[in-house]
Amino acid sequence: MIIFQRCSLKRILQHAQCYLRSLENSKSLARAFPSVLLHGHRNTSSVPGIAERTLIAVKPDGVQRRLVGKVIQRFEQKGFKLVGLKMLQVSEDLLSQHYRELRTKPFYPSLVHYMTSGPVVVMVWEGHNVVQTSRAMVGQTNPAEARPGTVRGDFSIHVSRNVVHASDSLEGAQREIQLWFQGQELLTWTCCNHTNTYEE
Ligand code: UDP
Ligand code: MG
Repeated sequence: MIIFQRCSLKRILQHAQCYLRSLENSKSLARAFPSVLLHGHRNTSSVPGIAERTLIAVKPDGVQRRLVGKVIQRFEQKGFKLVGLKMLQVSEDLLSQHYRELRTKPFYPSLVHYMTSGPVVVMVWEGHNVVQTSRAMVGQTNPAEARPGTVRGDFSIHVSRNVVHASDSLEGAQREIQLWFQGQELLTWTCCNHTNTYEE
């Protein structure tokens, strides 16, 4: 009986040590996070820029029209990796920082009204050249000029209701990701079909 109790106690202590070690590991991961947040995971692949990240948002009109799934599907089918996703009602404060370059434009007040009129779904996608490629996938700002096959070209008509947002540059993407997401909301994970997407 005493031997049995010692054995179980030993096992419990081993489990506790193991748990403490895993806690320590996750703390050091969290400390390393800021650069992971901006640049994705460390690039161990031979493909340059594979961990580039961009911010994509389905705007209130897209959410109301049940287009969230279609937008996500396009990015998934392309082969990009989803590393962050959330739905929120945007505050005017966040929006004014997001669209800070547009504050003096005549359409700015109506843009704020539209963007705060309902929930948005905001995402971070990762992959080679994702900033430039996703701008091409989203299409021109004015849907009248957006080509068929693009999100705006296929799902919208007017510039004031153009369904999606996509960061327009690497610097813009990094700024917007920091603005919309906390570090711990973005995940670093390995796709099981990596070698079918990139040549190593
Ligand atoms: N917008 C608008 N009227 C305009 C131009 C822009 O309502 O004449 C809105 C539109 O929703 C657009 C957003 O403002 O997506 C941001 O404008 P930007 O020029 O940054 O275009 P985007 O980067 O979204 O293509
Ligand atoms: Mg823009």
